Amino acid sequence: MTMDDRIALVTGAAGGIGESVVRSLTARGVRVVAVDRDAERLARVAKEAAGDGGRVEAFPGDVTSSSDVEALVDEVERTVGPLDYLVNAAGVLRLGEARTLTDEEWSTTFAVNTTGVFFMSRAVVNRMVGRRRGAVVTVASNAAGTARTEMSAYAASKAAATMFTKCLGLEVAKYGIRANLVAPGSTDTPMLTSMWQDDSSARASIEGVPEAYRVGIPLGKLARPEDVAEAVVFLLSDKAAHITMHDLTVDGGAALG
Ligand code: NAD
Repeated sequence: MTMDDRIALVTGAAGGIGESVVRSLTARGVRVVAVDRDAERLARVAKEAAGDGGRVEAFPGDVTSSSDVEALVDEVERTVGPLDYLVNAAGVLRLGEARTLTDEEWSTTFAVNTTGVFFMSRAVVNRMVGRRRGAVVTVASNAAGTARTEMSAYAASKAAATMFTKCLGLEVAKYGIRANLVAPGSTDTPMLTSMWQDDSSARASIEGVPEAYRVGIPLGKLARPEDVAEAVVFLLSDKAAHITMHDLTVDGGAALG
């Protein structure tokens, strides 16, 4: 899979899945622009990847600000080069039953998971159109299509991001640009483990008794961030040249189809 010298922008790059996407891309010779609002963790991710020979530049930024996103993408294209790939991996999870969710929990969830995907995709794809090439992958969630307790805001925001990405793919297909999704299930990152009161018993029940955890994971284990990252890289790559508007579920069978 040769992706040498392509340039990718990855949001949420300081997070579990985002960092793994950065690593999977740099391992294939891709130059990565790593974006996250957590500047400190982002600097560590970029430093470690560079230490292993990867070409990574850290651009701290917040995907919820339209003007910041436009300025960031503008600076990236001027100083790093034209973007070939975009990965929307920034995301937040606010748990709570619908009747107790606060206004802030709802709006923050949509601001990052949905509007952030729109702002970043619009900024990057507008620049790809003139070049008539490019690929976008949005990391949504299997929760976009499967009802879960305490996840109404998250699931709704991911469902919106999923449909947005598919419609985008339809509109930009004529320019040779593809837009796809990866829908992870429970993945071993801080987003998931921060929900657990007791890490070892939660992990034991998921890995030992899959049916004990929500709808269960038929393959009997959490996804590793690399499992998700490899699916992202595949969809970006030329191996997926004829795939667009596709939602690739990576959840060990948890969504049962
Ligand atoms: P994570 O919490 O480790 O990483 C998310 C990253 O997004 C963090 O580094 C955070 O700083 C960044 N971020 C949040 N708001 C931002 C903003 N406004 N601007 C820029 N960056 C921002 O979580 P993760 O598990 O790596 O999640 C990555 C993606 O995968 C998310 O979109 C998440 O919803 C999705 N996902 C995760 C799981 C899971 O079980 N971990 C399952 C399904 C989908």
